[in-house]
Amino acid sequence: MKHSWKIGKIAGIDIHIDSSWFVIFILFTWVLATSYFPQQYPEWQAGQFWLIGLFTSLLIFASVLIHELAHSLVAKLQGEEVRRITLFILGGVAQISEEPKKPWKELTMALVGPSASMMLAFGFFIMSFLLSGFSEPLKASFMYLALINFVLAVFNLLPGFPMDGGRVLRALIWQVTGDLKKATHIASRVGQGVAFLLLFLGVFQILRGNLGGFWLIFVGWFLHSAAVRGYHQVTVESTLNGVRAKELMREDFERISGNTLVQELVDNYILHKKERVFLVEDGQTLQGIVCLEDVKATPREKWNDMTVREIMTPKEKLEAVSPDDDGIKILNSLTVKDIHQVPVVEEGKVTGIICRSDILRYIKLRSELGV
Ligand SMILES: [Zn+2]
Repeated sequence: MKHSWKIGKIAGIDIHIDSSWFVIFILFTWVLATSYFPQQYPEWQAGQFWLIGLFTSLLIFASVLIHELAHSLVAKLQGEEVRRITLFILGGVAQISEEPKKPWKELTMALVGPSASMMLAFGFFIMSFLLSGFSEPLKASFMYLALINFVLAVFNLLPGFPMDGGRVLRALIWQVTGDLKKATHIASRVGQGVAFLLLFLGVFQILRGNLGGFWLIFVGWFLHSAAVRGYHQVTVESTLNGVRAKELMREDFERISGNTLVQELVDNYILHKKERVFLVEDGQTLQGIVCLEDVKATPREKWNDMTVREIMTPKEKLEAVSPDDDGIKILNSLTVKDIHQVPVVEEGKVTGIICRSDILRYIKLRSELGV
């Protein structure tokens, strides 16, 4: 099943909807139409509840999108590359290419999201006020949207990384100490604290018979893993800082033919020669690269039927790097393109290969040595 759908493009940024987003969209519409509006306006007709519920849900979706767009547009103004915004069950996430380079950049980028939500809250509140006496359902919808945007702004300002408030906290500590890694560490810890608080509140709510507590537990759990992951990413980036492709690449790779069966590759090359990366060539021309990861991704029962050509990363998908390219850039591009390896090319010749696992091993080695 497809995980996300592209629904459009705004200012050069792809807007995607994750499949999990439909869950929250339907849930919001359902709760609004069957419980929230009926309780407040019992005199409406049944169809009206659903219509205004759907309308309100769509505008919640637009509000979350505007929040993420605010982050993204400021990031773009600061010269960062923003690939896409994905809306999912817990809101939105903007895929911004690199971590900000300066504390004040991070600070402004983090603050514009909640500011946008706050302005939306104010705007909806004013509109709801103006519509009173004119259209009761629209007034009710805008009032709810004002509330939701207000909650969105306040919740995002909780000081735990990677929430916006946590980024603000990180930027401030970073500014004072000059140490991004330390700042991330502290802000992530606070983030984990906030996450535990939400988990605790969730359990408390459930014990009191309020099933809405499950939602808090879910959000808390998500935040906790995001805080840990965010910290890990900064550790990786600071470890790879200043490391060049030539230090990460392996030069001792074997060349094999694309017609080799996967089973042969495993027996004669991987197990026998203890190598894990191979340049696939046909005569003298480069066809692709095959790594241990590609073999692992192939079901074992197919090893006797498939050739290396079928499982390798073909050269069209390989993006060559030069020996002086930056380690972080290479790792990011492997992750974004979802490939395992890149050839290092110097003067038109492949002089080395970098595998994702080589980079990860390098990071592990350095952190074990404490350097
Ligand atoms: Zn935000």
